[in-house]
Amino acid sequence: MFQQTNPQFFEELSADIKGRKVNQIVDLIYGEVPLRKEDGSFWTPRIIGSSKQIEVHETFLSFVWCAIYSTFVKYLETVDFPQTNNRQGKAAYTANQDHLETATQMFDYARSLIVDFQKWNIDVSPNPEKYLAENRDFIEQTTLYYNSAVKFILCHEYAHLKFEHLKNIDKNTDKSRFCEMEYEADNFAIDSIMKGYFEPAHFAAEAQRLANEIGVIFGIVVMFYFKASTEGAKHPNAEDRLTNALERLKLEDNHPGWGIACTGFKFWDSQFGKNLVWDIENKSFKELYYQLLDQIKKEN
Ligand SMILES: [Zn+2]
Repeated sequence: MFQQTNPQFFEELSADIKGRKVNQIVDLIYGEVPLRKEDGSFWTPRIIGSSKQIEVHETFLSFVWCAIYSTFVKYLETVDFPQTNNRQGKAAYTANQDHLETATQMFDYARSLIVDFQKWNIDVSPNPEKYLAENRDFIEQTTLYYNSAVKFILCHEYAHLKFEHLKNIDKNTDKSRFCEMEYEADNFAIDSIMKGYFEPAHFAAEAQRLANEIGVIFGIVVMFYFKASTEGAKHPNAEDRLTNALERLKLEDNHPGWGIACTGFKFWDSQFGKNLVWDIENKSFKELYYQLLDQIKKEN
């Protein structure tokens, strides 16, 4: 999926591999360890200057799947279904408490992976490997968004190698330069993905576009769940990256992407007790998003 991000992408990637900017092997690290290393840093994806490799850890991938599952199910049960009911003027869907409880458990499991590695219990918990046919709906949609989120993350890391960002960094590099490089990587990733949208006449154009858009959003939203503050020491604040991505994707005001971003804020809030006020009455998802964002900005 990464290689095929858009029709020209493979050629571009191959040229960077030949030009020795990028190592063709992604360093996928296996190990039953938590995301937080002993030195306090995290096993989040990064690039290695000496080998020009993109490094991704197995536990991080588990974390992303679980975080997407929980946020997506919560979005459906608490935001999307009630809206559909409103539109239809009847309660066609009622919130399923079991689904919501499972979503919370998956969120807790994802969060626990940051500090303490426990094996994913695939006999009991939702997972992409072993599940009943009747549960495939939430699971396979999650996997679709997960694949697309990982594609976005790989494109982002690839951009750091492509633009040789590590060459620009020394001990005097200030935060604004780090932020600039982060936005450059995000924007390259988003633009590359948008160039891969099917032609509007393609029968699957709308679905493919949606999967890509939501993947980008999840790729950023899951990073919120790491800590109570969205402020980055060297990175832009998580909410600013998210806003940049949502605007760059040119989503219409009631696009599910805004709704999912809002649900992400809420989940983060429930974990860290920010008590954000959620008032969706007569508002588009985009308006709700900016209202929540305002509250987060005041917190910071
Ligand atoms: Zn980056």
